[in-house]
Amino acid sequence: MAKRSAPSSSNVASLADIQPVGAARAQPRLVELAGIGKRFRSGPVATVALADIDLAIGRGELVSITGPSGSGKSTLLAILALLDEPSEGAYRIDGVDTTTLSPSAVAALRNTRIGVIFQSFNLIGDLSVELNVELPLIYGGVPAAKRKQRVAEVLELVELSHLARRMPVQLSGGQQQRAAVARAIADDPPLLLADEPTGNLDSRHGDAVIGLLCALNAAGTTVCLVTHNPAYARMATRVVRLVDGRIVEDARS
Ligand code: ADP
Repeated sequence: MAKRSAPSSSNVASLADIQPVGAARAQPRLVELAGIGKRFRSGPVATVALADIDLAIGRGELVSITGPSGSGKSTLLAILALLDEPSEGAYRIDGVDTTTLSPSAVAALRNTRIGVIFQSFNLIGDLSVELNVELPLIYGGVPAAKRKQRVAEVLELVELSHLARRMPVQLSGGQQQRAAVARAIADDPPLLLADEPTGNLDSRHGDAVIGLLCALNAAGTTVCLVTHNPAYARMATRVVRLVDGRIVEDARS
């Protein structure tokens, strides 16, 4: 399996639809997937997780990715997050063809363009909330004074300023996920990816996290949200549905 090295219906768009022409050439879509496939091989058995995925996502969209368990949602998100490589096809983000990049260039692209939120929060247990949020800024080489300022800003945004010095284990699930959102947006990435971010939360805390993602989208961040929850999926401006690794529906509201 080609795993990247990680730091710690009807109107399905095809590549033909998204080729930039004229003025649009200067402003490519934020995300362009063309002919993406993913196979996992264990011994003689190959599982096709994704096939023939053509998907273009414009800046400012709020896209939910839905589908039954095993339909390829997490695999698609991992490829979008540059945490896994497709078996075939092309992925461009911000006009950059990711298939031709060195591992360090991939890491740099991930650090500057993409924030990821996972179901299990994935905070580092022996770092305080503020240090968890600061970490991507340290990786990005941001000077210390700017880092402190930005950490304070994003913790205020997710309403966790008063818990900045706590360790993750001292926070509720909802607070941990808000800290994970703060970490994901610390370096202001244009693309925010969330894989079942409410899966471990009760409905009140889940609603708060989805509200936060919607507010970030309203402020300009492009958001892709994997969710099983139909109510959350409907909050998106576009719903992409996967079945057996293929897009079967791509509907804008
Ligand atoms: P979903 O997120 O929709 O539940 P996944 O993307 O996790 O679906 O999985 C899609 C398919 O790929 C499933 O059949 C799953 O068993 C398979 N799969 C996912 N990851 C691996 C892996 N690391 N090795 C082998 N098969 C995998």
